[in-house]
Amino acid sequence: MPEVIISGGGPTGMMLASELRLHDVDVLVLEKDAEPGKLVRSLGLHPRSIEIMDQRGLLDRFLAHGQQYPGPRSFAGIDKPSTATLDTAHGYVLGIPQPVTDRLLTERAVELGAQIRRGHEVTGVEQDDDGVTVELAGGARLRSRWLVGCDGGRSLVRRLLGVGFPGEPAQTEWLLAEIEVTTPPDELAAVADQVRKTHKGFGIGPAGNGLPGNRLYRAVVPAATVAEDRTTPPTLQEFQTQLRAYAGTDFGVRSARWLSRFTDATRLAERYRTGRVFLAGDAAHVHPPLGGQGLNLGIQDAFNLGWKLAAEVTGWAPQGLLDSYHTERHPVAADVLNTTRAQSELISPEPGPQAVRRLLTELMDFEDVSRFLIEKVTGIGVRYDFGDSHELTGKRLRDIRLSRGRLYELMHRGHGLLLDQTGELSVAGWTDQVDHVIDVSDELDVPAMLLRPDGHVAWTGDDQQDLLNHLPTWFGASTTGRENSASVLTIP
Ligand SMILES: Cc1cc2nc3c(=O)[nH]c(=O)nc-3n(C[C@H](O)[C@H](O)[C@H](O)COP(=O)(O)OP(=O)(O)OC[C@H]3O[C@@H](n4cnc5c(N)ncnc54)[C@H](O)[C@@H]3O)c2cc1C
Repeated sequence: MPEVIISGGGPTGMMLASELRLHDVDVLVLEKDAEPGKLVRSLGLHPRSIEIMDQRGLLDRFLAHGQQYPGPRSFAGIDKPSTATLDTAHGYVLGIPQPVTDRLLTERAVELGAQIRRGHEVTGVEQDDDGVTVELAGGARLRSRWLVGCDGGRSLVRRLLGVGFPGEPAQTEWLLAEIEVTTPPDELAAVADQVRKTHKGFGIGPAGNGLPGNRLYRAVVPAATVAEDRTTPPTLQEFQTQLRAYAGTDFGVRSARWLSRFTDATRLAERYRTGRVFLAGDAAHVHPPLGGQGLNLGIQDAFNLGWKLAAEVTGWAPQGLLDSYHTERHPVAADVLNTTRAQSELISPEPGPQAVRRLLTELMDFEDVSRFLIEKVTGIGVRYDFGDSHELTGKRLRDIRLSRGRLYELMHRGHGLLLDQTGELSVAGWTDQVDHVIDVSDELDVPAMLLRPDGHVAWTGDDQQDLLNHLPTWFGASTTGRENSASVLTIP
């Protein structure tokens, strides 16, 4: 019996599986699709997700498959040269198609020992005091202690739990496809430019290798209506009809690599935890893809939940730690939904929203405004409420240089970390959970800092007793007597 079953092997599920495996939790991922999909939804990672990859030693893999773009500097498509210096060592967007992100996260989960079963669709969920019973298509039943629904926007787990999903239904639908065109590139670009001036929901651009002769394009065009059954992809004919309706031409499209549809439905699960079952990623929140945040948000949900669920399974989780997943992540998603709603309004061609857009365009010349908006979209502005007034507490800490290396290099194991510039503090009693790093940094102006495994600052100061008061909040009761001798992490 695995300790945790994850329903859904998308980016959220795979990220969570890896985080759990870092702590030796037995985890089984059930994915209904027999093969990974080719559909490219997300086009990239924002700085906070890039930081997460760095914190787990995965950054090189992602950099090898992605392209770094300057920025991020755009809000609702208002593109401003960024004057705002973001508080991150990774102030760029990493262009990387979602199937590649999905593959890299899957490879990592497998390397760490997660069991992945493809072609296994979850059809039923029941829970009792001891665990969860999951039923699969075909009738097989599996038991685990915990279940996490990472099964996307139409999450069956969420529906079976009866968790409300309030918000706005789809009002507009778009068709998305990778198509092979015959119109010459210059002619295509000229038409696309003209159409985009009046129709904000239309776009077409090269999708292939970008080499001369590449005829593969990614195109998005509004659908005629909101389809009743959105699980069925549109036909090529439907796509051609909409291209002609909006662009006056179908660009000579003859075939599609894949076709898909998406909407502007905006909804947030009422609760992220129901007993032994959690929701994460699109299963917990859906919104239009403006700003490119959905996948990033899911990865960050998983990063928040992973160590907490591992702590519960391992037996050291303090009271309330598991519930803090909802308390911390639900408001973050609510804020993202709010931001995407605002962006949706700002791209409307109506005179009112256009006037607000012009005003915001001017306001974004102010560095503080620009930074505020971009910190929202990139996720680096997230601050959890730990009830402490120090300006760093609750925020994630950027990567900083230490005298012997970099901070993020020391976080690969997924442990908590005491960064101690005084050399006089101790985490004895919590050495299984917290690495003690004695080092200095000219980028850090507090004597010491306690970081959670997800890199958020739990405490700052230099007072041992104060530290002892804070450690149990995140790392449970002291295990004095069990601590190992390697309580101070040696940096090579
Ligand atoms: C057009 C478009 C563009 C986007 N662009 C971006 C972008 O640029 N940046 C960004 O961050 N996000 C973007 N997104 C959003 C992003 O694609 C999603 O937020 C992301 O895929 C969510 O990941 P997930 O793992 O939570 O869910 P999913 O990716 O939906 O994965 C869920 C998985 O669960 C499986 N599953 C479902 N039901 C079951 C079941 N009953 N049993 C077993 N398995 C099941 C599914 O097969 C699937 O593999 C975009 C979305 C769209 C539509």
